[in-house]
Amino acid sequence: MRESVNPVPGYPELHMIIDGEKIPVAHRRTHSVVNPATGAALGALPLADAADLDRALEAAQRGFRLWRDAPAAERAAVLLGAARLLRERQEGIARIATLEEGKTLTESRIEVTMNVTLFEFYAGECHRLYGRQLVRPAGMRSTVTCEPVGPVAAFAPWNFPIGNPGRKLGAPIAAGCSVIMKAAEEAPASALAVLQCLLDSGLPKEVGQAVFGVPDEVSRHLLASPIIRKLSFTGSTVVGKHLMKLAAEDCKRTTMELGGHGAVLVFDDADLEAVLKAMVASKHRNAGQVCVSPTRFIVQEGVYERFLQGFTERAAQLRVGDGLAEGVQMGPMANPRRPDAMERLIGAAVSAGAKLHTGGRRLGSQGYFYAPTVLSEIPMSAAIMNEEPFGPVALINPFRTEAEMIAEANRLPYGLAAFSWTNDASRQKRLAREVETGMLCINTTVLSTGDAPFGGVKWSGHGSENGPEGVMSCMVVKAVHEG
Ligand code: NAD
Repeated sequence: MRESVNPVPGYPELHMIIDGEKIPVAHRRTHSVVNPATGAALGALPLADAADLDRALEAAQRGFRLWRDAPAAERAAVLLGAARLLRERQEGIARIATLEEGKTLTESRIEVTMNVTLFEFYAGECHRLYGRQLVRPAGMRSTVTCEPVGPVAAFAPWNFPIGNPGRKLGAPIAAGCSVIMKAAEEAPASALAVLQCLLDSGLPKEVGQAVFGVPDEVSRHLLASPIIRKLSFTGSTVVGKHLMKLAAEDCKRTTMELGGHGAVLVFDDADLEAVLKAMVASKHRNAGQVCVSPTRFIVQEGVYERFLQGFTERAAQLRVGDGLAEGVQMGPMANPRRPDAMERLIGAAVSAGAKLHTGGRRLGSQGYFYAPTVLSEIPMSAAIMNEEPFGPVALINPFRTEAEMIAEANRLPYGLAAFSWTNDASRQKRLAREVETGMLCINTTVLSTGDAPFGGVKWSGHGSENGPEGVMSCMVVKAVHEG
């Protein structure tokens, strides 16, 4: 009997999926996938070469011609079937995501559920892709229709190893496009599990494919091809700008979900206990490696001391450990680059005069753990106040007036998610108008739902995923005029 190459229970052998074929490691360059809680290898991932990518492109072109003509009911049935399979396979997929990315098992289970609700919502949208007929004199007719844009190249990062691939695959498939997904090499099995649910529920093999590789090689190759008509990317602003330039060479459509620096405005009239409960949990979700993570806490003077003390006490008590372990509230960071970044950013802030209240250090002797950290009175010039920290650090500064607080929220070129806590109804209306952001939460943290557009403004990107807007982002409009 052949010995298993992957001794980790529940972790599968890795492959790419090109034109329906599972491409194994044999004769290819590989990337070693690592468990961030232990640093131990999970498996070897095959990396695409140019011939693999050309094969995927050719299949995607066939897939588009096939899928663009598939009836809405057929596209919806695939999405609904995949949602059912995701539910059935939830425990196995969640375990894989925690092994690869580190987040707690509870968070991974929620990610599966997010995909289920998104696929169900998109299935409904397949039936609602209406056009319109314009008013014209007798004998003439003008219609506006929506058509799928064409084959999509989609790049998903590692921080939501299940949810990001769900978004990258779901929208093109609902719209009638084919898609080549390159998910993060750090979390490939989670992405493959999502695609497999779609293929097992009847998605034609040419319509959804998964490649992995050296990111720059893959994106340059795919974006240079005229077959690809749209780029969808989630990741850092710097990489996003680079990919937009590549896409511009061929005037490809783009949806860009880039970085953030989440502002949190806490006003004197807020219910402080409710704010602390919600914000401490939200801050430490996925060890802060979330693009909509609350980061810059802009706190009004009247509640500042109590907020700082309450936040510090709660953050210091969080149970940090392996995401698979019972009772753990925060897992490790996903890769060694993140604790390095924490050390650099937090160290520089403290040197510049910021006060450290808890954390500020790595934890344990294995894996990539970093302690929940609270800084206050951070100089505005510190890098951490201007650069997305993407980690378990809360930056808490005092402010006097509403106008100053809104100015601070809008100070940076980022505008993804912002949070505000106030019970003053007229202030809520002003905030809704004045805060420059793609998503604003007032007295809540719930912003990522299947039916609501998710996306940013300014350097946080453009275009939306989720909601009707997510499907429309994979469509182009055509006006037909008949005389
Ligand atoms: P990174 O910018 O190198 O990579 C981010 C993602 O983009 C990864 O999934 C990576 O595989 C991919 N990528 C990188 N270069 C690429 C290229 N040339 N072509 C195609 N894909 C490419 O950084 P990182 O160290 O992985 O993450 C660090 C930063 O990325 C964070 O600080 C955060 O700002 C950002 N990030 C944002 C999100 C998000 O949800 N918006 C997710 C992950 C990372």
